Amino acid sequence: VKADLYIKHIGQLATCKPRNPGPVTGSDLDYVEIIENGAIACLDDEIVAVGTTAELDRQVNPVNRAVIIDAPGKVVTPGLVDPHTHPVFAKTREDEFEMRNLGKSYMEIAAAGGGIRNSTRALRETSKHVLYDNAIKYLNLFLQYGTTTIEAKSGYGLTTEDEIKQLEVIQMLSENHPLDLVPTFLGAHEIPDEYREDKNGYVDLIINEMLPQVAERNLAVFSDIFCEKDVFELEDSERIQLAAREHGLHLKFHADEIVNLGGAQLAAKLGAVSADHLVYISEEGIDAMAQAGTFAVLLPGTSFYLDLRDYAPARQMIEAGVPIALSTDFNPGSSVTISLQMIMTLAANKLKMKANEILNAVTINSAHALLQGDRIGSIEAGKKADILIWKAANLRQIPYFYGVNQVDMTIKNGRVVWDKDGTKKG
Ligand SMILES: [Zn+2]
Repeated sequence: VKADLYIKHIGQLATCKPRNPGPVTGSDLDYVEIIENGAIACLDDEIVAVGTTAELDRQVNPVNRAVIIDAPGKVVTPGLVDPHTHPVFAKTREDEFEMRNLGKSYMEIAAAGGGIRNSTRALRETSKHVLYDNAIKYLNLFLQYGTTTIEAKSGYGLTTEDEIKQLEVIQMLSENHPLDLVPTFLGAHEIPDEYREDKNGYVDLIINEMLPQVAERNLAVFSDIFCEKDVFELEDSERIQLAAREHGLHLKFHADEIVNLGGAQLAAKLGAVSADHLVYISEEGIDAMAQAGTFAVLLPGTSFYLDLRDYAPARQMIEAGVPIALSTDFNPGSSVTISLQMIMTLAANKLKMKANEILNAVTINSAHALLQGDRIGSIEAGKKADILIWKAANLRQIPYFYGVNQVDMTIKNGRVVWDKDGTKKG
């Protein structure tokens, strides 16, 4: 086979190719295929062959000027997939971070006009170009830290015009930056200042104006909602998400994050692709999600950063057969990190997950949580050549080290987009 990128002599090649196609659940989550002295051949943006170095040396025919990389003693994995982020925002909120650390709660700050509404006021005053430039520096960091695809939400505009502005920025970023962004409409992120006394009016605006325009202009794959007490209750959430489904959007939920409201059951009932957060999910919620095959996207960085005691009951969900994915929840308020590596460590010591489970939850499963499992998330012939070379000598060292970047090289669509010397190529 012809190849223009050939990686060989890989210490441990963790392919994340599942035993059976589809999301990885239950005890299968603890299985990762490892090829010792592995090799990967790629042509253009695709993987064309995977095996041991001895096997591929016999098959692979590197083209003129092919990039050949030796990776002895290194771990190689698929590029990481982050299925829940809010990367387009106008300003940072370090003042609120300090207020919280000195004793105010997230909900107190939100009630006083801080939080999401603070981000909304700023975004409305900011041009597309400035939003775009702000986001680019975070997208570069995602690549450096090994993330090659993210989901990206709107939700700081909260008017038709400003939600569309934010989705257009996401579209421009995905077109122009090597990182892939999967767009999600989150008009139901918060009730904006001008609708505080008229929540139903805002729900109507989402249903009658925002969703039709977003769908018609193909600006989103998913519709998400902040389903929470005193924000969008179950009834509001059902109305909005049923309308979104009618427009052909797939569904995601911020559910059971602050109290147990039953958002998990609603997500399962409506056939959502995922319900996210789930710190206070009930046993009924776990059963409903397992039955429906709804993904649980867990965001331990948020509990950590808000300094909360409680984390989602990951072990119970894994045992019940709920498909699990992990994400940063990157946003300027409740989780200000682009590092899935940090989240992998939190998944180990806060969610009590094992290294294999964690790796599957940030690769093949997070790809499926974005409906991209057939093109990314594992190292297999025919998939996109999104590949990481790690400093780590074995898989279990990845969550074990924390707070430092352990990625030596990021390859996106068959091109080296970052390496440890800080040089950008391709
Ligand atoms: Zn979120």
